[in-house]
Amino acid sequence: NWVQWNDRLVKDEEIQLSKEDRGYQFGDGIYEVIRVYNGSMFTAKEHINRLYESAEKIKLVIPYTKDVFHKMMYDLIEANEVTTGQVYVQITRGSSPRQHQFPIEAVEPVLTAYTKEVDRPVSQMANGVAAKTIEDVRWLRCDIKSLNLLGNIMAKQEAHESGCFEAILHRGDTITEGSSSNMYGIKDGVLYTHPATNLILNGITRRVILACCEEIGLPVVEQPMSLSTVYANDEFFMSSTTSEIMPIVVIDGMPIGTGLPGEWTKKLQTAFEAKIEQAVHA
Ligand code: PMP
Repeated sequence: NWVQWNDRLVKDEEIQLSKEDRGYQFGDGIYEVIRVYNGSMFTAKEHINRLYESAEKIKLVIPYTKDVFHKMMYDLIEANEVTTGQVYVQITRGSSPRQHQFPIEAVEPVLTAYTKEVDRPVSQMANGVAAKTIEDVRWLRCDIKSLNLLGNIMAKQEAHESGCFEAILHRGDTITEGSSSNMYGIKDGVLYTHPATNLILNGITRRVILACCEEIGLPVVEQPMSLSTVYANDEFFMSSTTSEIMPIVVIDGMPIGTGLPGEWTKKLQTAFEAKIEQAVHA
């Protein structure tokens, strides 16, 4: 398998990373996961824009233009003949003697990217999954897709140990997002989701979903959902690049609505699939 290492496409074994890489020592870097369907990247531009925005927010200068970066990802996918899968790419602030403040400007960021085949989670999308509510103890810049994921990991592990697919994070009574997903409730024909503030990552899937809502005539209210009324939703689902639109049918052991994926959720899944079809066959 080929991997992208800075400006070079190399074999996996060739990559050399430093023990003092700031990504390794501090989580000082950013990343993206881009879905590949039928050999083509889905919403690549949006992911690349978000990567550059994350970089800017942490004052990291990516040493490639967006066009060059896009071409790198394209060539990597071609080289590995990915069909249905994903590309993972991260950029750290580079390697220099360990100190908290940034290294001198001459230190180059370190980019690594690789691909893998990942099936669409079709049976879980059809049947729905369980989730667990967990206090959101992360920092206040969740809008940055940073490599620092301890808060996310600890929550996901706790959910996993309870036999759940995902953690529904809340700050007090306010539901923010999932450990690696965005969250949505549907009540009386209205979709509620947290606004794109510093408390959540504005998912690329989320943006596609909000466009789908418009298309199918589902009103959207971007307003924090309350934890105290979460079980009273008619429907609930999460979204991410890899999980797409994933119905959540059980929260903390309580069935949501009928305990099956809801009608609006299924309509959204259909509209979302149409977007994929359009994009990868265009
Ligand atoms: N929130 C968090 C914390 C995430 O890690 C992710 C997935 N990367 C998302 C939301 C969903 O974002 P996207 O739809 O762009 O994958």
